[in-house]
Amino acid sequence: YKAKKQASGFCFYSMDYERSSIQHIQLNDKIRNALAKNEFSLHYQPIFENDGRTVYSLEALIRWQQQDGSYISPALFIPVAEKAGLISSITQWVIHAAFTQLEIWQDSGHYRHIQINLSACDLQNDGIVDYLKEQLDTFNINPNQVILEITESAMIADITLAKNALRKLYALGITLSVDDFGSGYTSLTMLSDMPIKQIKIDAQYVIEMSRKNNNFAIISSIAFLANSIGAKVVIEGIENQKVLTKVSTLETALLQGHFLSQPMKAEQLEQMFSSTIKIMSLQP
Ligand code: C2E
Ligand code: MG
Ligand code: MG
Ligand code: MG
Repeated sequence: YKAKKQASGFCFYSMDYERSSIQHIQLNDKIRNALAKNEFSLHYQPIFENDGRTVYSLEALIRWQQQDGSYISPALFIPVAEKAGLISSITQWVIHAAFTQLEIWQDSGHYRHIQINLSACDLQNDGIVDYLKEQLDTFNINPNQVILEITESAMIADITLAKNALRKLYALGITLSVDDFGSGYTSLTMLSDMPIKQIKIDAQYVIEMSRKNNNFAIISSIAFLANSIGAKVVIEGIENQKVLTKVSTLETALLQGHFLSQPMKAEQLEQMFSSTIKIMSLQP
């Protein structure tokens, strides 16, 4: 499992290479088309403070609605876009769309931070660093409002390249987060050498918590170790009250999951925020 850099900027995983098929080729064309026709949009899922109410940040999640109205999951098309050399265009689209929305929401109190997902391929050259630098200059957005999520596997795919890119992003004042931590073999020791300020524990541990007794012990140990290297922990995948009650005992943890809030369109989020404010103002 090693990300490869090619002169053309294409990026693919050798492990998956064999699997390229007619379906993938068709999907390539559809992704190209979707970029041209602007079929992508963003949903935002709030990440809450430990009280489960105060919004700490919003995670931008890409959505692709096709002409027939159906959605294609990013878990399906992002890997294809990576192989087709289309991921940097998608990442740039996401950054631009998120910044455009943030500028509208600036001063509204809707958010403090935005979290954007990067792909492993984005770390293999300086394209993303240059693009973010340029967009931060163009938009009225402070780099300390921006959190970039990079999966654990992307961090270790090519550790030297990743470290370089991460240091440059960090130097811009951006916060770096490790997504799906615990799904691979990275130790916190490896991460302590990188400018990581947030660790998102792989949702699978959290989802399985109701069934597996040891999981909470693992989650709380990761939270403890993360704090010791100066990083905040996000517990994602909170799907029920039982799990929420348990993870709320981790005082410094940030919380995310369907039980707290689904990913939403910008308009839905605005409605949620205005109704929350109404409820709060009705209280004595
Ligand atoms: P991720 O970054 O780990 O995002 C979390 C995924 O879990 C999202 O799925 C979210 O909708 C879902 N989720 C949220 N709460 C819960 C919960 O309580 N239970 C469960 N089972 N799931 C929950 P989504 O939006 O389908 O995204 C899937 C993956 O696709 C993301 O995982 C991320 O790796 C990738 N992705 C999404 N948007 C982007 C993007 O803009 N750029 C890149 N490069 N990747 C993206
Ligand atoms: Mg994420
Ligand atoms: Mg600026
Ligand atoms: Mg995740």
